[in-house]
Amino acid sequence: MFCPRCSGLLMPNEGKMKCSCGYVQNDGTLTEKKKKTKDVQVVQEKFDESLPKIKHDCSECKNREAYFWTRQMRSSDEPESKFYKCTKCSKIDRED
Ligand SMILES: [Zn+2]
Ligand SMILES: [Zn+2]
Repeated sequence: MFCPRCSGLLMPNEGKMKCSCGYVQNDGTLTEKKKKTKDVQVVQEKFDESLPKIKHDCSECKNREAYFWTRQMRSSDEPESKFYKCTKCSKIDRED
């Protein structure tokens, strides 16, 4: 490989091809490969921890915070049931 400026021979130097005239080739071939940043996927496998917490008065211990989720029961014609699982005593209250 030759220098486009002075036609001298390029020599590898500090990871780049350099010429004695001061020319530095910058075509990227010898530079560090860019690290690919992978998208961090949020895996929601933990059941309770992944559920949103809302204010709910527990019927058991009167704790005022519960995990909340909904589930469609039987056919889709029926309204979803709401579930509240107490963050303290794990009592599940259901609300249709
Ligand atoms: Zn040169
Ligand atoms: Zn409770």
